[in-house]
Amino acid sequence: MKTIIYQDGEFVQAENAGIDIFSQTVNYGFGAFEGIRSYQTNNGIKLFKVREHFERLKRSCEKVNIPFHWDIEELIEVSYKVLHKNRLKNAYLRPLVTCGIGMDLKVNKQSGITIMAWHWDYYDSNKPLNTCISRFERPNPKSVPVDAKLTGNYINSILATTDAAQNGYDDAIQLDARGYVAEAPGANIFIEKNGKLYTPEISAYILPGITRATIIKIAKQLDIEVIEKLISVEELKNADSAFLCSTAVEVVGLASLDDIPFKTPFKDSLGATLQRAYKNLVLDKLSFEVII
Ligand code: PMP
Repeated sequence: MKTIIYQDGEFVQAENAGIDIFSQTVNYGFGAFEGIRSYQTNNGIKLFKVREHFERLKRSCEKVNIPFHWDIEELIEVSYKVLHKNRLKNAYLRPLVTCGIGMDLKVNKQSGITIMAWHWDYYDSNKPLNTCISRFERPNPKSVPVDAKLTGNYINSILATTDAAQNGYDDAIQLDARGYVAEAPGANIFIEKNGKLYTPEISAYILPGITRATIIKIAKQLDIEVIEKLISVEELKNADSAFLCSTAVEVVGLASLDDIPFKTPFKDSLGATLQRAYKNLVLDKLSFEVII
């Protein structure tokens, strides 16, 4: 079966789609994207938090003046069609806004949208990750907006991820330009200390994760206190446990940081409780309502 994607108003075979080689997205990494997951739930196929993702895509574009001239409700409809046309149930959906034909460096008023999807079933979130503090810090928000999901920002994520892997780690923890704990290359971070959770506060220095926001809401319902604040490397090192969260990986525990294991095994941590609750929420199986 050929892969069908949506591109600028049409459903086309992926092999017939394309991005202009002269676009600023290809040449300069000037574009924006999202990552959304669909789940086969008891109530049908659902794209989890799809509206929030498209709203963030719009904000990401607006932050750098990429014209976003699409109706979000229509994009949601189209997204379900992309899943349907490819007979996908558990999948990862990637909307990508590309921009600017021409080699100059001014924002160009042309932008286009492509939505593709692929099967995404399972991420082994039962195996806690060995992590390291990356030598690549997140970009300085005084240089580029780090709180927007821009294609070019992922050069930094690729460097951090690859470097961690080359040194034998599963993932990297990145600091922000001020030296505080920021996030992983593709996920937000929470730490647990003395029965409370802490996570870097929303600021220009991190991507405001949709999973992060969901975890905070679930924690509230479970009477788990979450404190959003600046987190130092010392605090991370002294945490009882820690976990990452993102659309792609959901909730995944950390086994160690810079070869030092966290005191509490992930399976006994608040993170494990939230991991189960999150899974139930995305599958529409949660026994309580999460007010969204
Ligand atoms: N931080 C970064 C840098 C990311 O790329 C992602 C993944 N989009 C996240 C955090 C988590 O965001 P979300 O929960 O919305 O997937």
